Amino acid sequence: MKKLLILSAAALLAFGFFAMDLNHYLTLDGMKASLGQFEAQRAASPVVVGLVFFSVYLVVTAMSLPGAAILTLAAGALFGLSVGTLIVSFASSIGATLAFLASRYVLRDAIQRRFGDRLKAINEGMAKDGTLYLFTLRLVPLFPFFLVNLLMGLTPVRTLSYYWVSQLGMLAGTLVYVNAGTQLAQINSLVGIVSPGLLLSFALLGVFPMLTKKFMSLLQGRRVYAKWQRPKKFDRNLVVIGGGAAGLVTSYIAAAVKAKVTLVEAHKMGGDCLNYGCVPSKALIKSARVANQMRHAENYGLSAAEPQFSFRKVMARVHEVIRTVEPHDSVARYTELGVEVLEGYARIVDPWTVEIKLNNGGMQRLTTRSIVIAAGASPFVPPLPGLDDVGYVTSDTLWDEFAKLDAAPKRLVVLGGGPIGCELAQSFARLGSKVTQIEMAPRIMIREDLEVSDLARDSLRRDGIDVLTGHKALRCEREGTRKFIVVEHQGKEIRIEFDALLCAVGRVARLQGYGLEDLGIPTQRTVAINDYLETLYPNIYAAGDVAGPYQFTHTAGHMAWYAAVNALFGDFKKFKVDYSVVPWATFIEPEVARVGLNEQDAKEKGIAYEVTKYGLDDLDRAIADGTAYGFVKVLTVAGKDRILGVTIVGEHAGDLLAEFVLAMKHGLGLNKILGTIHTYPTLAEANKYVAGEWKRAHAPQKVLALLARFHTWKRG
Ligand SMILES: Cc1cc2nc3c(=O)[nH]c(=O)nc-3n(C[C@H](O)[C@H](O)[C@H](O)COP(=O)(O)OP(=O)(O)OC[C@H]3O[C@@H](n4cnc5c(N)ncnc54)[C@H](O)[C@@H]3O)c2cc1C
Repeated sequence: MKKLLILSAAALLAFGFFAMDLNHYLTLDGMKASLGQFEAQRAASPVVVGLVFFSVYLVVTAMSLPGAAILTLAAGALFGLSVGTLIVSFASSIGATLAFLASRYVLRDAIQRRFGDRLKAINEGMAKDGTLYLFTLRLVPLFPFFLVNLLMGLTPVRTLSYYWVSQLGMLAGTLVYVNAGTQLAQINSLVGIVSPGLLLSFALLGVFPMLTKKFMSLLQGRRVYAKWQRPKKFDRNLVVIGGGAAGLVTSYIAAAVKAKVTLVEAHKMGGDCLNYGCVPSKALIKSARVANQMRHAENYGLSAAEPQFSFRKVMARVHEVIRTVEPHDSVARYTELGVEVLEGYARIVDPWTVEIKLNNGGMQRLTTRSIVIAAGASPFVPPLPGLDDVGYVTSDTLWDEFAKLDAAPKRLVVLGGGPIGCELAQSFARLGSKVTQIEMAPRIMIREDLEVSDLARDSLRRDGIDVLTGHKALRCEREGTRKFIVVEHQGKEIRIEFDALLCAVGRVARLQGYGLEDLGIPTQRTVAINDYLETLYPNIYAAGDVAGPYQFTHTAGHMAWYAAVNALFGDFKKFKVDYSVVPWATFIEPEVARVGLNEQDAKEKGIAYEVTKYGLDDLDRAIADGTAYGFVKVLTVAGKDRILGVTIVGEHAGDLLAEFVLAMKHGLGLNKILGTIHTYPTLAEANKYVAGEWKRAHAPQKVLALLARFHTWKRG
């Protein structure tokens, strides 16, 4: 309402300005004709005329009315070069800032809400270099100033910065125009005041700060190398540290483009995903699911049966699965692909040299043009008093430790309510453990929408898990052979007895021991990198869990492409890593899969959205499979079919998501999904049906009413 009032007042003022023919004074001829009269008034009372002139100038610029150039000339004619420049410089800067603020107040929220996700890159650029861009725009009088005010108001540039950069940037142009105004009688057109030569000088002056910045960063890039001796020749094009998803993909790409590449792995090829993460956890999940299905076999007209099994065999199967996948990531395979694989611990000794302590006892030094750090992450172990005393497992150790057990731990405490904690808690509960899951936050899977967290919690509870949210672990205690964890909930301490404790409270990047400290490479929970994945040293890159911001195998692989290409071809062209469409899934039952925004993200970012939901309880295939639960929820731009994000909860949600990932990546909307044939009866039809729901909600009601009349008329 307030905004409407402001707009109406501005429109009224503008209308009055033109209706009273005030614009006549703001033409060259009009100003020249009235100049004598103005000069007489100025001679009589210079201060009053000066103040009135200042106010008029300010209103004209604040209201973005045409004629500021004429007023600037008039300032020269009336007040001379110095006073004229002083008046114009302040009036124009304050007026421009008011116009900027008006644009920000009236338009910014609406624009950011509607296009926030698309403006993200612009906003980030403006937050970083906004003052430089503004300075350039201000210096070159080719850009209409009212447009600069309007557009800059929509960006995150700070008001004070806007003011002083505007004043500084416009000063040169102001001087030229005020100076020309001192000879107003000789001026017949505005065109000649700023000659092409002068314009070019302004433009050069405008881009100068940007060039300086580029030059400085180049210089800084060189400076970090100053204390190191660069080898004249290099043994390798690329040395990759770490043989997990990120390192494997990086070295694979390097070998594919015929670079001489060495991959160094200290421990096990395949890294976390193969040995401690995705692969064993999904193998375990499968056994647990089968056990659960047996228990609920009556849902399929079969007799329910309590599964008889050896936990040892289940764990043996997990290791068997790892062994089966192992050849994909093996030394033999990568050697065959053209990668030199060294088994040992790598340490960066200078920006071009990596020293490898080989597992066979030897030592090797390699010089290399570029290095990619893909050292991954390890489980975070919280500093709980007494934790070491009671003992615990993490995702790194549980696969070997539990493989020694005849049965799943009787009472298992899972610390952590994130995806890994939930997946493992459900699996061990289904395999016979009495699981207590402890989460400090008010809900599990906190990154997902509330309804998703609630569904996940209910499902875990149905599996017999005691899900304790809002419970903070304080310490561990031992009484003889009995082990306890003490948690705090609403001010009270609760003691929970357990046989085994699994820490799944997050994973931290590996940052120590391999040279980051010696080279002064900054870290902030992860290795600090820029958009090109470069560290402080532009020839040293980082990818995967060690660099974040996502900790998934597929994002590690995605980053690896950028790391490899930038490291090998960055001299010609560098690519900024693109995180615009990142999917992920949590493999509990029901599966939870997401790409792009969910509702809580959209609200947090102030992005307007529309929700369309399709319940899987309606889907033929899900009903036939006995998995008729969950939903597909799509967020779209208000009034449009452009997809902002999708959350799927249900059987095979991770697989179903792929269609939306593709759609988002390639800008396909819900109409396109609706227009695609989906095989009947499949779960994938849910994607089409949610698009159908969206279409129904946006049916053109007026056209349909006309059609109804048309058909009535046809019936006679
Ligand atoms: C239980 C669990 C389940 C998971 N499930 C999924 C899932 O379902 N989907 C998914 O996408 N992600 C999942 N993840 C995450 C996934 O495993 C990681 O995101 C992925 O492994 C990261 O790959 P990376 O290459 O960055 O690091 P890593 O796989 O950790 O590889 C880093 C490698 O570097 C080596 N290294 C470190 N320092 C040196 C050195 N100085 N010299 C030589 N070698 C070194 C390490 O030994 C390690 O092998 C899961 C993780 C866990 C723990």
